[in-house]
Amino acid sequence: MRVCQICALKEEHPGVSLDDDGVCSLCRLGVVGDLLENFSYTDQVHEEFTRSGPNPNGDYDCLFMYSGGKDSTYMLDKFVNEYGKRVLAYTFDVPFESSHAADNIALAREKIPATFVLDSDDDNIKTVMREVFNRPVTKPGKYLDEKLPCVSCRTFFVIRAILYAFRNRIPYIALCADPQQILTMESDVREVVRGFYQTFGARLTDEVFRKEAEQILFADDADLPKIVFPFIAMRYSYDPDRIVADLKAKGLYNSSPLETHCTLFPLLNYYSFKNWDCMFYKLNAASHRRAVRRNKNYDRSTFSITFPRAADLPSIEERMKRVVLDIAGTRGDPAAHRRELIDIFRELGATEDAARFVTEGFLGMRTVAADLGITL
Ligand SMILES: [Zn+2]
Repeated sequence: MRVCQICALKEEHPGVSLDDDGVCSLCRLGVVGDLLENFSYTDQVHEEFTRSGPNPNGDYDCLFMYSGGKDSTYMLDKFVNEYGKRVLAYTFDVPFESSHAADNIALAREKIPATFVLDSDDDNIKTVMREVFNRPVTKPGKYLDEKLPCVSCRTFFVIRAILYAFRNRIPYIALCADPQQILTMESDVREVVRGFYQTFGARLTDEVFRKEAEQILFADDADLPKIVFPFIAMRYSYDPDRIVADLKAKGLYNSSPLETHCTLFPLLNYYSFKNWDCMFYKLNAASHRRAVRRNKNYDRSTFSITFPRAADLPSIEERMKRVVLDIAGTRGDPAAHRRELIDIFRELGATEDAARFVTEGFLGMRTVAADLGITL
């Protein structure tokens, strides 16, 4: 198995190819054309949104996707208190996420004058996750296929938000992806819905969105909401540490970013190891290696996931793969798994407490899978 000489992505990583010199297409910036095109559309929509006046068709200028995390709390405050937008703060209650974010949402409700709505649809989002985990993957795969369960969960609730905005004639949807994520996200609402139909087929899509998603495909452009990525304007200055400090100073943030936690994280790693022979954060690890290699910006992260400079990522990945697949297959000694996982997360920069917390999640992977109807 060949790996990229620069970033260590494997030859068979979905959506990536290695040239004769052993350098991958991401390191060669083979995707730069697409990315620039996406950025220029995204830039244009952001410009249009900042200049736009009040929405003549309703009480809200934008639906703001509010997770309670640091990025969206920071931007919600700016939208309302600096830009003077009339904001509907929309939170989708993802049943797999911990309640840490709930504290931040409560703080924001006290201090930011927006209208807050909470949406949820446990049954249907679980149906989507069951489907994505249980079906076989198609090789060689596309870019981000190793993250398909995570991407599908997010796409599910982005479509819920699109439908909400469409129904209520809200012209913009603000989505606080970090600059790294913006590069890989679809910004045209019709394409978001079309992508879901392509991945899951018409039967399942119509079932989980009660046939409403189809209206987006056939609506007039003028009636469709547009997705705005507010962090596009900060793409050269994005600094997660500064954002957290700023929020804490305003009394808008309690937990540290490490504490935001998805209970599916162990299963997401199982999925990427089993199907694509890589850990869930492999692309982040690869871009970390690329940055270290260029010796530029390695001390400051331009995206949410950071790795210690000294971490031996390829070895960590191999050790993690062994433990994750052993736990999934009920092989080996749980006490040894626990020790190994704690070591791994410590090497990845977690505190002792955080490492133990994440480790317990991995040890309970089979229970989470059984609850959701996922076959390991
Ligand atoms: Zn590479």
